[in-house]
Amino acid sequence: MNQFIPSLKTEPLAEKTLPGETFVFAFHGRDMLMNGTELPRLSDFPNKNDIQIRALYVGNLNGIPCIGIPFPEQTEWNVQPLRAVIHSVDEAVICAICRAKELMFWRERRKFCGKCGHEMEDSGTDLARVCPNCRERYYPQIAPAVITAVLKEDKILLAHNRNFTSGVHSLIAGFVESGESLEQAVAREILEETSIKVKNIRYYSSQPWPFPNSLMLGFVAEYESGELTPDGTELETAGWFSADELPMLPDHGSIARKIIDDFIANRQRMI
Ligand SMILES: [Zn+2]
Repeated sequence: MNQFIPSLKTEPLAEKTLPGETFVFAFHGRDMLMNGTELPRLSDFPNKNDIQIRALYVGNLNGIPCIGIPFPEQTEWNVQPLRAVIHSVDEAVICAICRAKELMFWRERRKFCGKCGHEMEDSGTDLARVCPNCRERYYPQIAPAVITAVLKEDKILLAHNRNFTSGVHSLIAGFVESGESLEQAVAREILEETSIKVKNIRYYSSQPWPFPNSLMLGFVAEYESGELTPDGTELETAGWFSADELPMLPDHGSIARKIIDDFIANRQRMI
């Protein structure tokens, strides 16, 4: 079983000797650099020293260091959708990849101080970027999002969002707003997108979601009132589906699919 231990500080790597087996994670938008179907290793790169200077240590996977690097400008390597990669590996590897993705995203956007404009540095003592001019510290930020299975008798609410692959239906999801509780976010998102009210909102489980720095929190809720009406902007269609007549579903590995599969297996017992 794989085990990932995250780093707790932004260590400079230029002076260190990293083993050739070090995992190297590089991302470009929603894609990830791969060596064929394998995770890239430091020994796969000819310019090992250049990589170390620009790399960020993100933790150890089975005792092997993991580093994130800025995406090489020109690469002949295989680039795969990050979503497909994280759906094909176990939880510890997902954690390593998501941490690298989110920390690289954060570091890239913390090159300069938001307060005084000076160039930032890695702290070296904790997981922060520090301004050497005004001493302001910046830590990685995670954007929580909620995703909810709404159940009505023996049916589940599934909707097609305009950003989904054609035909795919999934659960209702959205970002948590400032000042909101998770339960309020669940109720608001569902009301905004479908015009229905829900009750008995219960936490299900969570999943890191590095697009680009989110944490997806899964919930189950019961229909309370209102007529199901997709908003027409985010949601194109929405409907109540029984486990015997489901539309095309999201990929295995996503939290949405995990909740829907649980519904298929357990139906009303989820409530
Ligand atoms: Zn500053």
